[in-house]
Amino acid sequence: MTEYDILVVGGGTAGMTAGIYGARAGKKVLVLEELICGGQIVNAAEVENYPGIPSVSGADFSAALFDQASNAGAEFDFQSVDAIRKEADHFLVDTPSGPIAARAVILATGAKNRPLGVDREDTFTGRGVSYCATCDGAFYRGKTVAVVGGGNTALDDALVLSELAAKVYLIHRRDEFRGEKSTLELAETKENVTVLRSSAVTALQGEKKLAGITVKDLKTGSEQEIPVDGLFIAVGQMPQNDRFSDLIELENGYIRAGEDCRTSCPGIFAAGDCRTKTVRQLATAAGDGAVAALAALEYLQKK
Ligand code: NAP
Repeated sequence: MTEYDILVVGGGTAGMTAGIYGARAGKKVLVLEELICGGQIVNAAEVENYPGIPSVSGADFSAALFDQASNAGAEFDFQSVDAIRKEADHFLVDTPSGPIAARAVILATGAKNRPLGVDREDTFTGRGVSYCATCDGAFYRGKTVAVVGGGNTALDDALVLSELAAKVYLIHRRDEFRGEKSTLELAETKENVTVLRSSAVTALQGEKKLAGITVKDLKTGSEQEIPVDGLFIAVGQMPQNDRFSDLIELENGYIRAGEDCRTSCPGIFAAGDCRTKTVRQLATAAGDGAVAALAALEYLQKK
């Protein structure tokens, strides 16, 4: 069995940055990604807050990071990780194609989309309900859509969709948005965007596909039905680390690790949105990838 020095779980910004640092240090590095490399940022139409890059699409940023890590020597494989086992002097990372041995592991599993929790959300997923405006927005060209959420993802989605759809409702449960003020202001200048504050989507209508939503005004309690072809849910992310809970401590599902990215298990490090932290940004994910890789290198040196 091939043994890797560092196995990175997750090919988002944190994971690929760890791949660059590990490979550039001359280590044998494998990055395991379940779906496509890039993580959350791959869906951002425009990234304008990454230092040194005034403007880039999330897809281009991810592709450049992938090339950089590959060119540095990091290997990539596309499969899921079911569990990690600790052996005497290495770890065994279980995948559907069998275990992979590694001397150190960096978990950069990010987070998955949080469901809205409205009735029949699952039924309509892929039939009008989507969690990715960049992926699915083109299906709604000239149609009416709604975006629910108040963070940067929802604001970005509303902007992306305003260029495609005839009409976009941006629905948030509070008056104040979490996302960047400048992005909200830009969305509000779009003639085809209507912002509904203090409002919640309480029901979905339609037979085989979504035909409309019920929106409740949380201040007055009144409800209105809005015909929509698409509903884009952007209400945040949830960690997905339960499969590692035998080996490492979790806190509310996030991997307990400080700024040094060290977990409760020596040899396992956590980088990016999957770990306990207050700021989850592209720049901090990249920072974590570097810190985790350097910590892993130090661990390997001392072993
Ligand atoms: P987020 O910042 O956690 O925002 C989630 C939003 O969904 C919040 O406004 C929240 O409302 C709302 N929400 C949560 N549960 C809800 C429910 N059940 N019903 C209705 N609304 C609900 O998530 P995000 O927007 O996906 O962003 C995640 C992280 O990535 C953030 O740190 C963000 O800044 C970052 N990001 C950055 C960029 C960029 O820089 N261009 C782009 C995308 C994401 P409350 O406000 O009421 O809690």
